Amino acid sequence: MLMKTSAQKQFSKNAEQYRDEPLFSAGHDLEAMVKSVPLAGDEALLDVGAGAGHTAIAFSPFVKQCTGIDVTEEMVKTAALYAKEKNACNVTFLQGDAEKLDFPDASFDIVTCRFAAHHFPDISRAMSEIARVLKPGGSFILVDHHAPEDKALDQFINLLNQMRDPSHVREYSLAEWNKWFEENGLDYTEQGRWNIPIEYDNWIHRGAVPEEKRPAIAAHLTGSSQACRDEFQIVLAENGRPLSFCLKGVLILGKKR
Ligand code: SAM
Repeated sequence: MLMKTSAQKQFSKNAEQYRDEPLFSAGHDLEAMVKSVPLAGDEALLDVGAGAGHTAIAFSPFVKQCTGIDVTEEMVKTAALYAKEKNACNVTFLQGDAEKLDFPDASFDIVTCRFAAHHFPDISRAMSEIARVLKPGGSFILVDHHAPEDKALDQFINLLNQMRDPSHVREYSLAEWNKWFEENGLDYTEQGRWNIPIEYDNWIHRGAVPEEKRPAIAAHLTGSSQACRDEFQIVLAENGRPLSFCLKGVLILGKKR
């Protein structure tokens, strides 16, 4: 029995919204991920925290076989139906936990993980599992939003995301990512950073945030320091209501030694 109840509770509520949201279905980062490694067409790929399936489906025309795992049953069902709709015949979705991958050592040429790692309660275990199932010379392609190195900015953005989504564990700094890649025998190359624009009302709606929690989240943005406003491009209406902000996206490529 899988025990990641916080993520399961959060993502059971809104699988279709994650399927339809352009941030997930059409982000330019998907194309950048596909282009980040040379693909011969004979690769086996594992997508960890597959959500509604966008990453596995984006890779499917270019590799032999894609397997997507996700801890949330509703996401797995949504992804399987979506792959069928898209005629992605070489993609399979299974329920599974990033921290206990149910695959033998060295079984994949590529592992991907997009906008999911900040939900893993034990990132060290997940990273060691990812490195374990990769073949030597294989690639780990990570996309996530990350925290700035500055402690105050780090605390601000992590608290904001935790207030909205109780399954948000931590968005890590690039120094932390570098350490985990190195510790797990993955050569670390940063491939790109970008600002991810977030429209406030849509973000609250997609997160299925209970009405009573909304004022504190808005107040966190409204009362932010100038440094936070600059870093996260916080835009407020004249009456102080949050309109938009950005998260800090990164694509990191790890080559297993
Ligand atoms: N990767 C997706 C994409 O490219 O569209 C989006 C992922 S969605 C924002 C985050 C996903 O991580 C959710 O579907 C959630 O169920 C999953 N997740 C959270 N914790 C997990 C864990 N420990 N193991 C596997 N999946 C997990």
